[in-house]
Amino acid sequence: MQGFIYDQPAARVIFGIGAFDRLAEEVTRLGATRVLVLATPEQRGDAAEAVRRLGGLSAGVFAEAVMHVPIETAREAREMARRLDADCCVAIGGGSTIGLGKAIALESGLPILALPTTYAGSEMTPIYGITEAGIKKTGRDRGVLPKTVIYDPALTLTLPPRIAGPSGMNAIAHCVEGLYAPDANPIISLFAAEGIRALGRSLPVVVREPGNIEARSDALYGAWLAGTVLGAVSIGIHHKLCHTLGGTFNLPHAEVHTVILPHAMAFNREAAPDAMQIVAEALGVKDAARGIYDLAVAIGAPVALKDIGMPEDGLERAAELATLNPYANPRRVEYAGVLKLLRNAYAGRLE
Ligand code: NAD
Repeated sequence: MQGFIYDQPAARVIFGIGAFDRLAEEVTRLGATRVLVLATPEQRGDAAEAVRRLGGLSAGVFAEAVMHVPIETAREAREMARRLDADCCVAIGGGSTIGLGKAIALESGLPILALPTTYAGSEMTPIYGITEAGIKKTGRDRGVLPKTVIYDPALTLTLPPRIAGPSGMNAIAHCVEGLYAPDANPIISLFAAEGIRALGRSLPVVVREPGNIEARSDALYGAWLAGTVLGAVSIGIHHKLCHTLGGTFNLPHAEVHTVILPHAMAFNREAAPDAMQIVAEALGVKDAARGIYDLAVAIGAPVALKDIGMPEDGLERAAELATLNPYANPRRVEYAGVLKLLRNAYAGRLE
């Protein structure tokens, strides 16, 4: 075995059906008494449930979170936190809401308690992103990592299959790239393999039977593992492409991950055989990239960029941008190879 560094930015994790009821106790454990609850407008109801559980610990609600944390929204939320003299943020929602919490923490140092309701994994990472003048800037700062994460599968029962499927594929993408990252390590690889196993078996059930709490629990467990992987090691061509396509062409986040993943894996197939073997075993298939593609089809998720709003005449620009400052990747990232990958992804044709 090669030497490695294991440097896990840990959060306290409470997992279980009904764990939402422990919210007030966990806030108190953080020493907080004036909580600002964050949510999207669509999840105002979840925010109200959090307020009910917080009782006198709640100072207010900001239910204006939107995708990719526009700086204007971050400023408004920061201002509200200041005005309320908040000493903690409770973020109930997906990556967008948790991202808003991180934008507040980045400036104020306020602790975040996250209640994830999708499978995106942001709650386990020190990665933040803020969008200013159409450009999303991301960075890593341990200060934005939530201090406590409460995973209650019951909160995901309302996540519609059309969002749940791609969200789960987004989580699988974290696991796959974690397996071939230059700073991969044996512990994180165990998390990644188990994350793929859990999501691979649960996602088809989640979309078929959205009320199946066992499958919801399994998927959320996989999402926790995937988020941990993303928070611990670096990412490669897949995430770079998704950031480029999402940022420049405004494509939907989880859907882009779903479409690109099998093609990024086919691109890296020969250069990362051990990682591909682990993915194939976790899914119980022969070819890892094909297994991921088939999983997307099985859960009714998109498999072609042309179906999620990508303009065909933008493929060359995307290939240029993605090869400008490439992330470390098992196979050398060069224009011709990336353009071919993108053309295949555009058509939904896996090599
Ligand atoms: P999201 O947070 O934007 O949520 C999508 C929609 O689903 C929203 O309308 C939300 O209100 C709704 N929703 C969420 N949970 C629900 C539930 N249980 N029931 C009903 N509706 C629900 O989507 P996402 O994919 O979780 O997050 C995407 C964002 O997160 C992107 O901006 C992405 O860049 C970011 N992200 C960041 C990291 C990180 O480590 N920093 C990791 C992954 C994703």
